[in-house]
Amino acid sequence: MPTAPLLSVVMPIYNEQEALPLTVERLRPILDGLAVDYEVVGVDDGSTDATPVVLQKVRQDWPEFRIVRFARNSGHQAALTAGIHRARGDYVVSIDADLQDPPEKIPEMLDLAREQGFDVVYGVRGDRATDTAFKRRTAGAYYWLMRKLVGKRMPNQAGDFRLLSRAAVEALKQLPEHQPVYRLLVPWLGFPSGEVVYVREERVAGGTHYPLSKMVRLALDSVTNFSAAPLRLATWLGLVSFVVCLALAVYTTLSYALGATVPGWSSLFIGMLFIGAVQLICVGLLGEYVGRIYSAVQARPTYFVGYDSADDEPAQDDAAHGDARGPGR
Ligand code: UDP
Ligand code: MG
Repeated sequence: MPTAPLLSVVMPIYNEQEALPLTVERLRPILDGLAVDYEVVGVDDGSTDATPVVLQKVRQDWPEFRIVRFARNSGHQAALTAGIHRARGDYVVSIDADLQDPPEKIPEMLDLAREQGFDVVYGVRGDRATDTAFKRRTAGAYYWLMRKLVGKRMPNQAGDFRLLSRAAVEALKQLPEHQPVYRLLVPWLGFPSGEVVYVREERVAGGTHYPLSKMVRLALDSVTNFSAAPLRLATWLGLVSFVVCLALAVYTTLSYALGATVPGWSSLFIGMLFIGAVQLICVGLLGEYVGRIYSAVQARPTYFVGYDSADDEPAQDDAAHGDARGPGR
């Protein structure tokens, strides 16, 4: 593919051996029907099942399908980063590999961007009826909090199904983020944007790769990426404790003067537990930030690309990021 295609579709893939064939079957006619040059960048996030084999098979009879394979599992956002950095299209759409984001919306996104000159088109989840109540509730809380942090520029319920123009992609590539959370960074860029509403479908096959631990991690990355407010919480907790302490000091002195100082085990114990808990919370909060400063200073690449099928093609300029074989390739 010597010339840059108009559209790149970036798809993070992790252990999707069952879903992938179905996704390809539905995605391909839509992209072929667009009658524009396109590429699909399937980023295999170090799958440990038969996904690599399935991907090779897909590529065999779909030349527009490009495979980027990580050396190991590095996470959804890292896979998105690799895909977005390596995509060559004028427009880059990111989509999940499990058909939860309907590919039928891609032409709509592209038309909207081209007609209105938008740099970003968000896929906004209109209906999450197929998600579990737990997922809906945690997602609701997440978007509420994120909109408080990033502001109303961030559309509610906009995940990682979105279109970016080349300009937006280049802007994102300039950011030095180590743990990028695109659903926050993209609204933060503030580029002209539109929305396409879609219904979040049920995962077509297999199970989620977002257990609670990964959800918590995404939430923590999101907050620490955009706000130092939790650190200020420590100051507030300290101030409140100090005021309570003053009141208790008066009470203690009075009790001493009145000679009623022997009982008090419960209040002492509660006070001790409370202060201990507050201190641990504050140290933990500090740790979240210090840990991130630490990994930012280490500046290790967040992923290693073991294989890019584009390397099999004639040479072209392609920015390398965290490439296991170094930037020169
Ligand atoms: N994914 C990934 N790396 C991971 C976990 C997930 O690339 O470590 C991909 C996965 O294959 C899918 C997308 O990210 O295409 C969203 O993941 P999933 O569907 O498991 O999350 P959910 O939709 O349940 O939030
Ligand atoms: Mg999914």
